[in-house]
Amino acid sequence: MSESKLIVVCGGGGFIGGHLVKDLLSKGHRVRCVDKKPQSNWYQRSEFAENLVLDLEKKEACYQALQGADEVFNLAADMGGMGFIENNKALCMLSVLINTHLLQAAKDIGISRFFYASSACVYAADKQTTPENPGLKESDAYPALPEDGYGWEKLFSERMCRHFREDFGIEARVARYHNVYGPNGTYKGGREKAPAAVCRKVIEAQVSGSNEIEIWGDGEQTRSFMYIDDCVKGTQDILASDILEPINLGSAEMVTINQLVDIVEEIAGVKLKRKYILDAPKGVRGRSSDNTLINELMDWEPSIKLLDGMRKTYEWIKSDMGVELPTPASV
Ligand code: NAD
Repeated sequence: MSESKLIVVCGGGGFIGGHLVKDLLSKGHRVRCVDKKPQSNWYQRSEFAENLVLDLEKKEACYQALQGADEVFNLAADMGGMGFIENNKALCMLSVLINTHLLQAAKDIGISRFFYASSACVYAADKQTTPENPGLKESDAYPALPEDGYGWEKLFSERMCRHFREDFGIEARVARYHNVYGPNGTYKGGREKAPAAVCRKVIEAQVSGSNEIEIWGDGEQTRSFMYIDDCVKGTQDILASDILEPINLGSAEMVTINQLVDIVEEIAGVKLKRKYILDAPKGVRGRSSDNTLINELMDWEPSIKLLDGMRKTYEWIKSDMGVELPTPASV
């Protein structure tokens, strides 16, 4: 009987990694899930995976993680929403050690395919100065002016993947994720991103009876958000593809943060007073994904609309918070 591939998911205790592990297991793969957090803090943990707690900034840990493996997804990074990355630039940049040591181990062990999770934060700031962003094309990453700290690390690691491919023949593939959201991720504590933060705040406003929500900035900054199921599928499709250059994996359904709040209010059946915190971290003024290339090369488009994905996210956060609130029936 032929053995299935052994696939390693680095950062598998995290949000995207947890969903990816679950999907790979459901397809019958052997999966090794690696994360530095204690397993009790993983967002999802399957007893059918081989679960290892390792700090992948350390070179020896990367060799241990990849031993005997066929393919690797590197999703491990110290990251969070704008509040975290604007205030922890050194920590974000230290993730460069993870990808560097993983690539070295992958080369020596003979890994057949290597995936690196990059980010829309690699895009040049001067291409994101207005809310009417037409969508960032892959070529907009250069001349380089990425998000300070986190974005520079991602851009550098992308190049490292490229040169390991060119010089050592590693089949490295890179996706530039645009905001990913969904259940089983963080929604409190400072690392959460806008979709989860808005859901939590709308729930808290109802529970406390304040009926008020704080919004970072004036709420007119724009973003696009990709539901986790689309991300998990796109990630695997990119690893299996012949696409050698970094490619966008995101949604082109652009909304303002105010519109995102409208959506969650609609889901919850409430209308809240908005308090704008103008000096809070806001990130770039406008950002969305141009999906022309991925459409052309992989015939890929996100399949889940923001309202539908946010409904699932809101319900999961509400239940994880242990809050019982009536949700109006969807139409
Ligand atoms: P996450 O924080 O939920 O998961 C990352 C995981 O990596 C965490 O569980 C963390 O413990 C682990 N990790 C950090 N340092 C480690 C180390 N030294 N050794 C082992 N594990 C370590 O984040 P996520 O949202 O699942 O993101 C996954 C990847 O996708 C990251 O590389 C992130 O930069 C990238 N990305 C995510 C988004 C998004 O919207 N979620 C957008 C762009 C890029």
